[in-house]
Amino acid sequence: MIRFENVHKYYGAVHAVRGLDITVRPGEFLVLIGPSGCGKTTALKMVNRLIAPTSGRVLIDGTDVSEMPLVTLRRNIGYVIQETGLFPHMTIAQNVALVPRLKKWPRAKRNERVDELLHLVGLDPAVYRDRYPRHLSGGQRQRVGVARALAADPPIILMDEPFGATDPITRKQLQRELARIKEQVQKTIVFVTHDISEAFLLGDSICLLKDGEVVQHATPEELLRSPANDFVHEFIGDEAVSRQFDYLQMGEICRTPLPTFPADAPDWQIATALRKAGTAVGATIDPGGRLTGIVQVIPHAEGGNRTAVQRRPREHVRVARRDELVREFFPGLCRTNRAGGPTGGAVDPGLVVVDEQSRPCGLVSYDDIVRLIAGLVTGTAIEETSGADPEDESTAAFFTRQRVKGAVAR
Ligand code: ADP
Ligand code: MG
Repeated sequence: MIRFENVHKYYGAVHAVRGLDITVRPGEFLVLIGPSGCGKTTALKMVNRLIAPTSGRVLIDGTDVSEMPLVTLRRNIGYVIQETGLFPHMTIAQNVALVPRLKKWPRAKRNERVDELLHLVGLDPAVYRDRYPRHLSGGQRQRVGVARALAADPPIILMDEPFGATDPITRKQLQRELARIKEQVQKTIVFVTHDISEAFLLGDSICLLKDGEVVQHATPEELLRSPANDFVHEFIGDEAVSRQFDYLQMGEICRTPLPTFPADAPDWQIATALRKAGTAVGATIDPGGRLTGIVQVIPHAEGGNRTAVQRRPREHVRVARRDELVREFFPGLCRTNRAGGPTGGAVDPGLVVVDEQSRPCGLVSYDDIVRLIAGLVTGTAIEETSGADPEDESTAAFFTRQRVKGAVAR
């Protein structure tokens, strides 16, 4: 467990980190995000003591890092940065095996570990282990950087915009690989980025910083559902819009079925039907089939297994027309959310999508939106190719595959 305890950092007159007070649980993937200069790198480097706090403490499993032997501390924390810092005169295998060698692992165990890790990051050991970093593309070098950070199996990994210097296609690929690796290795990871898509794809929790201060530390869903202030919704909204959903319409991202009921249907009937349908949210409609509100099954106030049905009139429901463009709808999303506000009891379920006649088509849950921002929803446009490294065979091959498919698979 990593704990920042009221941490401040001054660089002369610059107050770069202001009262950082957060906890990273074991096995958690924490994303530090925010505009350039907000103190992300400074915060991260205080964990492995590349920077010392001016005041406050950083604790690992209850021990102040400033009291740990530096060598032990650093060898037990993997560190990945933008330009991986691979040693040019060492082969890929030697680079990956660096810390295991310092830790005096026997040669056979090191070799085994190198092969295992190269496999994990998607590089064939037979092809790459004896090459030198200059023989690899930028994206491949970043993979080696990740493998090296994992080599001695440290419980903590710090990553500072590790994919920031790679072209968009390679970046997407590396992000997805890290998402997969994260499931396999179960590390505590602190990951710095300014890319909201990356944050939503990878983060168990996201800590949004501004001018050295935490604006909000929450799950991706909570950031969407209840943004702490205008900065949060603008940051997510602007970033999400700049993700270019192209001509994706709200109706296309609507994936959660929404059973409908006459507005005067009794609670017990609604509860039974929702249970049968395996969902907690339904819509009520008037005789013309038009949306009049939503109904939600919530645990009964007195606890136990009993449930109650909560009704929310249309004016307290976020509604989108199915032909509205996601791109245009987005900036208003969080703002509307705050204005409408959760009305107590049931959690805010998301957005109801209706047709041109106001008839409900389905629900866009917050989970759907998280997946959309993370780039996991079918229909998400492939980014520009211009930045692609022409020397990177795997990138070119990846792009060709994607172009053939036309979309990123869900
Ligand atoms: P981020 O990683 O979020 O872009 P940094 O942690 O690198 O931000 O920097 C936070 C603030 O501290 C910025 O205003 C930056 O200019 C300042 N800063 C960072 N490192 C130094 C330094 N070594 N000396 C003086 N100012 C610094
Ligand atoms: Mg930085």
